[in-house]
Amino acid sequence: MPITPLHYPLAFGLSKTNKRLLLPGVVVGSVIPDIEVPLMWIFFSDLPDHLFLHSLVGAVTVGTLLAVIVTWLLYPPIISTIFRVDKDDLKEACRLSTMLVFSCLIGVLSHLLLDYPMHWFNPIWWPWVNPYDVVGPLVLLFTPFGPINGTAYWIANYLTSAIMIISWFPILIYYRNRNFWSNHWLGRPPSKQSQ
Ligand SMILES: [Zn+2]
Repeated sequence: MPITPLHYPLAFGLSKTNKRLLLPGVVVGSVIPDIEVPLMWIFFSDLPDHLFLHSLVGAVTVGTLLAVIVTWLLYPPIISTIFRVDKDDLKEACRLSTMLVFSCLIGVLSHLLLDYPMHWFNPIWWPWVNPYDVVGPLVLLFTPFGPINGTAYWIANYLTSAIMIISWFPILIYYRNRNFWSNHWLGRPPSKQSQ
């Protein structure tokens, strides 16, 4: 990972680079690849816990498809129930569209982009390149401090997580008084209030 929710600040930032991108799709895409981790632990414990959904080929195909389904069907009811974000706004933002697919794709790729530097193995080119032959550059940077699957990895991991936590602060502070949850999960204020 870093801890899965820590992918959010990057997803949020990316969603702001183009007004047409849909924050829900980018956010869901940015966490989807990690759903394979517990599944790998349970069902394929002899394989790396990051594999198919952390490969470009798996992320672009199945990862994006899963993200689209989750955003389309699960995101509106869950987010409106837990965070009281307007359900109609969510449904509108999460309806099936080319932009939703594209937003999910951007999210999924952002996950790989963030995971790659801080992992000591990367299935990014799987199945063509052995994941253990692709060491993240940040891990390599810290090899003077210990082994790539030990201290060097943990430093890279903690550093990435710290950067993401710090990146979250401006978002939290900026929206603290302005439709906080709507801006956080929908990417804009509720349409009913802003009219
Ligand atoms: Zn991951």
